[in-house]
Order: sequence, then C-alpha cells, then structure tokens
Amino acid sequence: MKKLDPDVEKRLFKNVFVCKDCKHKIRALASKVAEGKVRCRHCKSKALRPKKLIKAIG
Ligand SMILES: [Zn+2]
Repeated sequence: MKKLDPDVEKRLFKNVFVCKDCKHKIRALASKVAEGKVRCRHCKSKALRPKKLIKAIG
C-alpha cells in the first residue's frame, strides 16, 4: 500500500465525517460535530463518525 503524505492525509481525513446511516461523507468542524450542530445533508441524521476511525479500528 502506498504511504500517504502527512499533508495529504490531513486533507483527506481532517474534519471529515461519515454518516452512519447513509455512509455519505460530510466535511465539518470536529467541534461542531461534537456539539451536535452538524447533520447529514442527505438523510438528516446526526449519527456521524470520524472518517479517521476506520483506520484506527482496522
Ligand atoms: Zn446520512
């Protein structure tokens, strides 16, 4: 697997969240997501998880 440049990784994963319901990606400030101010624009769900977490889990 190609190793990602730290800057590229930051661009791809920083402030990027994934809707748990419809799997759409949403770019939003982590602080706003934590406050529950961000909803999925596709299904209106508030169930978001950080994209980065996928890597950490497996
Ligand atoms: Zn959604």
